[in-house]
Amino acid sequence: MTNQFLVAVVGAGPAGLFGARELANQGAHVVLFNRDIKPGGLAEYGIYPTKYVMKAGLRKQFRQILDNPDIDYYGNISIGAQGDLSLEDLRNLGFQAILVTAGAQGTKWLGLPGEDLVGVYHAKDVVYYYNLLPLNSQKQYRFGARCAIVGAGNVMVDIARYLIRQERVDEVIAVVRRGPAEVKFDKKEMETVISNLDLEALDREIARVRPVMEAVGQDPGAARATILEALPKAYEKVSDTRFRFEFLSSPVRMIGENGLLTQLEIEDTNLVLKDGDTKARGTGHTRLLDVETVIFAIGDKVDESFGLPVEWNEFVKCDEPAYPVEGISYECYDAEAGKPIEGVFVGGWARKASDGLVGYARKDGINAAKAVRGYLQTVQADDSALGSVTEKIKRLQKPVVTKADIQRLEAVEAQEAEKRGLEEFKFSTNEEMLRAMGLTVEAKV
Ligand SMILES: Cc1cc2nc3c(=O)[nH]c(=O)nc-3n(C[C@H](O)[C@H](O)[C@H](O)COP(=O)(O)OP(=O)(O)OC[C@H]3O[C@@H](n4cnc5c(N)ncnc54)[C@H](O)[C@@H]3O)c2cc1C
Repeated sequence: MTNQFLVAVVGAGPAGLFGARELANQGAHVVLFNRDIKPGGLAEYGIYPTKYVMKAGLRKQFRQILDNPDIDYYGNISIGAQGDLSLEDLRNLGFQAILVTAGAQGTKWLGLPGEDLVGVYHAKDVVYYYNLLPLNSQKQYRFGARCAIVGAGNVMVDIARYLIRQERVDEVIAVVRRGPAEVKFDKKEMETVISNLDLEALDREIARVRPVMEAVGQDPGAARATILEALPKAYEKVSDTRFRFEFLSSPVRMIGENGLLTQLEIEDTNLVLKDGDTKARGTGHTRLLDVETVIFAIGDKVDESFGLPVEWNEFVKCDEPAYPVEGISYECYDAEAGKPIEGVFVGGWARKASDGLVGYARKDGINAAKAVRGYLQTVQADDSALGSVTEKIKRLQKPVVTKADIQRLEAVEAQEAEKRGLEEFKFSTNEEMLRAMGLTVEAKV
């Protein structure tokens, strides 16, 4: 028995990496398991691909974290009921606590007719696709001439940016349940697409929704001005894509022919005031938009098959946590058994799906680690199981990626970028990455 705690962290996105560092700084030995080969999560595979400076800065911080000798990294390993190892396996292996920072990997479908048509997608899959996350990167997506994106946040704008600046489609329509005063995107993100915004269409749309806005005390002119704040720093226009909004519109169903999407039916909504906030209520009046693609950018939920109880799209947490941090509960709870799941914690987007930027996920991961630390004070430090953990991982029937492998991969990708004269280069398949690291692609037998 030694004096170090042995902690498993599941998921090497910002929350998991910064949480792991916090735990290691506090004297734990951390084994970090990651589904993807590369660390970084959505910082690597979500943030817009050409945000080179931001991504490079984050990768540098992640590299420094992985340099810590008290953090082991095992990529290409999925944890969960259907994963390479289950939570139960981790417990049985002798980890004293488990911090789950696996992000929000479930898909929040609205359950509308036509969701299975070709051309109907969820934002996360599209974002993973253009950020070259293996498996998604190899799928076929049908980005037609006319594309609707359901949502009014930064992810909607990121996808509009991709469709406008990369795919250069004819038309992108943002379908927004509430009105121009409730859009959630930041000015900085809007700058990337606003040169394609059809200003006349915006004015017509604001005139159309004016009576509804005024009925709840909103100022249409002020909402218009806020959207247009991005104009002075508009990115140069690179395509003729027409970008426009359909406000006060809620998707009802998707219609197709021969399995391919042809139309999106939307229902007009009204705004009602409730508890100081506005809510959208359907009016029953519907309209049809001719589109070949619909992308739902409405947030995600946690993976329900992970093996932890889920309610309202989230892993269930203790209402009365024993180790709250800043008033937040990070402790998993089994409502059926009526008690906490001992030693199992959640942080980052796994605690609250689709909530906040990298800085927030980082803080949440650190706070989750502090909650874990609180729990560890109640048990005896013991990392004697580390040897058997390493043995178990080696025996898995698949290539397992270590931090030394990641360093090799990064070196090969940097060389490749230089050779091709690119800002950066990323392999888009696991096979290419494994080969570049000198690992066997085939499953071990
Ligand atoms: C489209 C998009 C654009 C964004 N742009 C920005 C931006 O410009 N700036 C900004 O600051 N923030 C941005 N964000 C937000 C930021 O990416 C998130 O706040 C942050 O990545 C969340 O961190 P996380 O660690 O909680 O989860 P994630 O980043 O999702 O990381 C989860 C990790 O867990 C791993 N994992 C998943 N399931 C398992 C499993 N079963 N077993 C083992 N490992 C698993 C994954 O491989 C991944 O590495 C963006 C988000 C999206 C979706």
